[in-house]
Amino acid sequence: MARQLQDVHGLIFHHQRFHEADVLAQMLTKELGFLTVIIHGALKQNSRLAGASVNFSTGTYIIMTSGHGLSTLRNVKNSRQLEHLFSDLTANAYASYLLDLTRHAFTEYEPIGAYYQLVMAVLRRIDQGEDPELLTQLVQLQLLPAYGVGPQFAHCVYGPESRGCPFDYSIQAGGVVCQRHFTRCSRMHLPPAATALMRTLALVPIQQLGQMQIKAASKQITRKAIDRIYGETLDLDLKSKRFLDELRLSEF
Ligand SMILES: [Zn+2]
Repeated sequence: MARQLQDVHGLIFHHQRFHEADVLAQMLTKELGFLTVIIHGALKQNSRLAGASVNFSTGTYIIMTSGHGLSTLRNVKNSRQLEHLFSDLTANAYASYLLDLTRHAFTEYEPIGAYYQLVMAVLRRIDQGEDPELLTQLVQLQLLPAYGVGPQFAHCVYGPESRGCPFDYSIQAGGVVCQRHFTRCSRMHLPPAATALMRTLALVPIQQLGQMQIKAASKQITRKAIDRIYGETLDLDLKSKRFLDELRLSEF
């Protein structure tokens, strides 16, 4: 594709100084997925684009792009900053991890479909002060299919059972297992309430998720279970995740 101007909607989430006064910024866009733009002169005083392209700002971006490699940011319209994500260390760490995790499931300039709405909705809710832990677990679970791991949460891996008895999760079997089939596979031995919470988070459309009040101890159980699913299924080592884990450790 020839280099052309294109309007994209989305979010800027990572800045890196480049050359003397330029910036390389990572973006998530509705139209083109993840991409990197160069912002010429962003570090110069009175730069027209600097204020409109800070981290965690959303807007309409006019970029010069050829659909691969580096694009160039030309102009920004309707820019708005998600201030809490920018200024709050914890919210920032969660948001950075979410974006990093989503970015690794796709290649640059690959539209991410409904995941765009999911990630933007979650970021807005964290920005408005909602509990980032559960929202992050929801994204982790709902992203697994994008990584080619499609765990079965809707019903038992071995049958149609979807309710009425305790469920556990089996990494080996790739999904939830009902009590009748517990002997069929190795399982995680999660409390049934933890499996139920994971099933809700994995299956609920983000628009239908109300504010949930869940005890910290319960959230820790599902967090560890989800981390195990990721650890034993995928080969990911994200710096943003290690930072988030350190931050969370210091909070207990
Ligand atoms: Zn079953």
